[in-house]
Amino acid sequence: MPTSPTPTDRLPRAPEPGDPEGEPAILLVDDHPFILGVGLQMLAGLGYRRVGSAGSAGAALGLMKADPAAVDLLVCDINMPGMDGIEFLRILEADGFAGGVILLSGEGTQVLQTVQRLLTGGRLRVLGALEKPAQAAPLRTLIESWRSAAPRRGAPADAAAFTEADLRAALANDEWTLHYQPKVDLRRGGLSSVEALMRWNHPTEGLVMPGRFIELAESCGLIDAMTEWALREAMTQLGRWRAAGLRTRVAVNVSVASLDAPDFAGKVGALLRELAAAPEDLILEITESQLMSSSAVPLENLVRLRMRRIGLSIDDFGTGHSSLAQLRDIPFTELKIDRGFVTGAHANPVTRSILEGSIGIARRAGIQSVAEGVETEEDWRLLRQLGCDLAQGYLVSRPLPPERLVDWHEAWQGRVATFVI
Ligand code: C2E
Ligand code: CA
Ligand code: CA
Repeated sequence: MPTSPTPTDRLPRAPEPGDPEGEPAILLVDDHPFILGVGLQMLAGLGYRRVGSAGSAGAALGLMKADPAAVDLLVCDINMPGMDGIEFLRILEADGFAGGVILLSGEGTQVLQTVQRLLTGGRLRVLGALEKPAQAAPLRTLIESWRSAAPRRGAPADAAAFTEADLRAALANDEWTLHYQPKVDLRRGGLSSVEALMRWNHPTEGLVMPGRFIELAESCGLIDAMTEWALREAMTQLGRWRAAGLRTRVAVNVSVASLDAPDFAGKVGALLRELAAAPEDLILEITESQLMSSSAVPLENLVRLRMRRIGLSIDDFGTGHSSLAQLRDIPFTELKIDRGFVTGAHANPVTRSILEGSIGIARRAGIQSVAEGVETEEDWRLLRQLGCDLAQGYLVSRPLPPERLVDWHEAWQGRVATFVI
């Protein structure tokens, strides 16, 4: 029977505009008030902001009955008096709970493994099991694995398509915004740069991801205006961070279509002068497949950008078919390995060898290698072992609204020690 919630029993709070995208709503269930307190502190220390708690399975059921969609992830003790964790999860399963589950137990690995096996056959998404007291790093890894198990971003199959008029209205109404995702040095952990990723603050649909509108912008000729807006906004943001004591560089994604304009390099140069911004602080990311399939490689623009000392990154490397010779012709400063060859590479010999080869190509071309999609500590360790230069991915940080970067940087400096020893 669901029991009525006591003051410590509360659902995770609803999402708020300043939250990082995809911030999971976590419910921690444990009958030990002390352990519950420690767990809440640990999750707060890891940067999770939407965390609720329940002191018994009954209380958790009561909360979740009231609002089943309020929880994405349950972190649940399996040994509780009254209704135990197994019974609790079986009820949730029967109720159609669609979130993820992380199991906790003080009974040793054997019990945990058995319970995990018991539950894995069903509809619940059991992400893993941890022995108590749970350590922060493995807990974080399991929570982040929920994120990658969740549907991949981009255009959901049933999402309504936008039109050119929608995009023009967005431009006129100032609805575009940038989120920023750090790239950090794999050896020492320092912040190298941040990548600016476009978001659309849609009046009725909320935060819309670029998978749903970049192609449309390219096909209706709005991409140049979008790129110009992003360059201006990102370079201005660099100045705001600098005023707050944080120095970094920024990478902006550029469609090959924009590089076709003969005066692209000149325009970027003029913008930097207008903003009194250093060209060394800007990196332009261009995807390999677009570059290799465009009829004429916009070499002149690329060379002129490079002559102005703007950084050039070849994005999603491994998905196009460039050769070492082509890479040498185009003055790239950075090779960004597609996340398809990074995420989970430690467990897959084929991906791993492509990853290794790509890092080798960057080294021979004399440019920096960046791995995107670094999601776990295993990914991180392998990249260090293979001598990759920079890492970007959910393990380090998700894309963040600009006002959260300084706080992230502070927290990262505390966290990074465990990654670089
Ligand atoms: P991209 O340049 O390859 O950007 C990386 C994408 O991977 C981002 O998706 C980012 O949120 C996601 N990502 C980062 N770390 C991880 C991770 O650890 N695991 C997983 N699974 N994903 C991760 P997002 O923001 O949805 O952007 C999608 C694409 O849209 C970008 O791919 C880029 O090609 C394009 N895009 C974004 N902003 C702009 C822009 O201003 N201009 C242009 N032309 N294209 C843009
Ligand atoms: Ca990119
Ligand atoms: Ca990429």
